[in-house]
This record gives sequence, structure tokens and C-alpha cells, in this order.
Amino acid sequence: MERLQKVMAAAGIASRRKCEELIVQGRVSVNGQLVSELGYKVKKGDQIAVDGKMIEKEGKVYYLMNKPKKSMCTSNDEFGRKTVIELVEGTERIFTVGRLDYDTSGVLLLTNDGDFANEIIHPRYHLPKVYNLTINGILKPEDMRKLKNGIVLDDGYKTMPAKFKITEKDLKKNQCSFDLTIYEGRNRQIKRMMEALGYEVRRLHRKQIAFLGCSDLRQGEYRTLKPFEVKKLR
Ligand code: URA
Repeated sequence: MERLQKVMAAAGIASRRKCEELIVQGRVSVNGQLVSELGYKVKKGDQIAVDGKMIEKEGKVYYLMNKPKKSMCTSNDEFGRKTVIELVEGTERIFTVGRLDYDTSGVLLLTNDGDFANEIIHPRYHLPKVYNLTINGILKPEDMRKLKNGIVLDDGYKTMPAKFKITEKDLKKNQCSFDLTIYEGRNRQIKRMMEALGYEVRRLHRKQIAFLGCSDLRQGEYRTLKPFEVKKLR
């Protein structure tokens, strides 16, 4: 939620002071309702008009977030759980590029650019996605081979060859952690791959999408992508 005059100024209508004057003069409406108080806050997706003329469409925004665990990748959750959209300031109507599960953390892209999102998640794109995960058990050599060659999931789909590298073995806890790089993004793919091998995922974190990592961001923090980064992803 942001102040109306701030959003108007950011859209290039006039200076913030002049925008305040326009509001007080009763020349501004939000979603068809005249607004003349200066404290008014606008929500994502609100339609603002000056003298009955809709203000210019919002510019495109691109964010990289380190998604925290216990957050949903939807704009609204029927059970009232926290959503990643709520964590982003600004009034643009943004959405996530693909999804991470509620209990998964790590690299997540958010934007209001539908074409960009479709390109990135399109299967023909094959952008590498690196996950680090912990499973209940120590991965057997034959399972490593299967991961590398592709695994048949519960719906009969055979996954593309993946890369993997052990990062930790904990014999006491009977668990191991490893990086797994996949080049596609089916629903709950990592968990389903591990289920197909008879393991359970105890922790899942996405370290990277293509060249973008999030180790410089705390969970829940985000930053704007640089124009060259947006270009390089497409
Ligand atoms: N694979 C999963 O199983 N879950 C995620 O959140 C991402 C990839």
C-alpha cells in the first residue's frame, strides 16, 4: 500500500506536491471513486484516473527474492498464510515466475511482465535451476546414477538428465545433502523425483536460477533485477 500522491508522481503525472494539489482539488479518482484526502493509500492493481483519464500503465518490474519458508507463491491464500507478494512494496500487480512450495526457500523471480514469465517457465527454455536439499538417508550409488540419467515420475514422465553433487553426509542423523541441477520445472519435481527413489525431502532450497543466486539476500529480502540481468535471462 502506498500513498496516492507518491504513486501518481512515480507514474510521471507531476511532482508529489502538485499531485497533492490535484487530489485536494477533487480531480483524482481511484477505481471510479473520487478521492480528495491526502492520506489515501492505494493497493496493487488499483485504477487511478486524473480528470477522468486513466494514468499511464505501470512500468515493468522484475524482482529477485530469497523466498522465506512458510510463505505461499500466490497473491491470496484461502487459509490466510503469508504470501510472497505481501513482502514486496509497491503498487504493481506482480506475480511469481513459477512457484516454490510453502516449505521451500530460495531464488524466486517476481514480475508484472507476463511475456517474461511465460518465456522463463516455458519448457523449451531449459534454464538450469540448482536446488540444495537434505533427504532422509544416504544416497545410494545406483540412485545417483538414476538422478543423472532421468527418473520416471508418478505420472509416467521421465525427467531430463540432472547434475548432482554431494555437499554433506551426516551418518548420525542418517541424512545427506546435495546440489541437484534440473533443466525443467514440473510441479513439485524435486520432491517427486526423491519420492520415486524412496526418499523423503527434509529441506529444500533453490540456490540458483541460471546465473542468479540469492546468497546475498536474507530470507524474505528481495532486490530489483538489473536491466542486463533481465536481458540475459531471455
Ligand atoms: N521441487 C519441489 O518439489 N518443490 C519446490 O518447491 C521446487 C521444486
